Amino acid sequence: MKFADLHLHTHFSDGTFSPEELLRESKRASLACISVVDHDTVSGVTPATEAAKGYDIEVLPGIEMSTEYNGVEVHILGYLIEHHNPLLIERLSLLKKNRIERVHKIVEKLNRVGIKITAEDVFKTAYGGIVGRMHIALALAKARAVDSVAQAFERYIGDKGPAYVLGFKFSPQEAIKLIKECDGVPILAHPYVLGSDKLIIRLVKEGIMGLEVYYPEHSQGLVDAYLSLAKKYNLLVTGGSDCHGQGKPSVKVGAAKVPYQLVERLKEAQKNK
Ligand code: AMP
Ligand code: FE
Ligand code: FE
Ligand code: ZN
Repeated sequence: MKFADLHLHTHFSDGTFSPEELLRESKRASLACISVVDHDTVSGVTPATEAAKGYDIEVLPGIEMSTEYNGVEVHILGYLIEHHNPLLIERLSLLKKNRIERVHKIVEKLNRVGIKITAEDVFKTAYGGIVGRMHIALALAKARAVDSVAQAFERYIGDKGPAYVLGFKFSPQEAIKLIKECDGVPILAHPYVLGSDKLIIRLVKEGIMGLEVYYPEHSQGLVDAYLSLAKKYNLLVTGGSDCHGQGKPSVKVGAAKVPYQLVERLKEAQKNK
């Protein structure tokens, strides 16, 4: 039986594994297939595909786009996306620029509450991909301003914290459109975060083609509920761990995985789109 973990981050976004390390961990977890879905970037896809040559592991191109809908953060996965598409690269470079500006704003707020940290300290924790709050958290931990990444979110940069800055976000509609224009398959990530089936159904009407049903935070009850929702609306089913390496040390590669048949359905859906 072949298994796939379709939700993995690298250090091109806020994971701590390099593509090579990610492949090593995937081999250890006996996976036949993985997808690299970094936040708002596809920079990790080619290096992971290269690194996979030494292993018998298939790498599906992917992305996890941050969007916002009436104040709720909605993450949308884009599988099998054409990661060299110029339109995609152009749109993502705008997001990257906005994220850099946001780091400067967050650092200013941290300085105002007495934390001595520079934007450069933050950029040093990233690898040229995108920067976000996880990098701020890592820099705060490195400067010993907090004991852990989790504490950085609790005390300072969480959405109720004194140094929170809302990031520039696409709407779900824009992300779905962009993913489809680049021949990808848009899937709603970790639906439990939305907390309401009504919102999920709304997104299905906007063009979401599937649900990430298998996810470490989903109880068996939630898995069953999302499976029946997927059946009712004729949606694809995916799953993955959302491993961030040391950024979320309790979640290992392969902590959630799906049978390879679901990958085949994803590919068929892309062709028949
Ligand atoms: P950003 O896109 O820059 O706003 O950062 C969001 C990312 O920060 C998420 O994808 C997670 O990786 C991480 N994150 C958000 N909240 C927490 C939290 N409470 N603890 C740890 N990591 C978090
Ligand atoms: Fe993340
Ligand atoms: Fe997410
Ligand atoms: Zn993720």
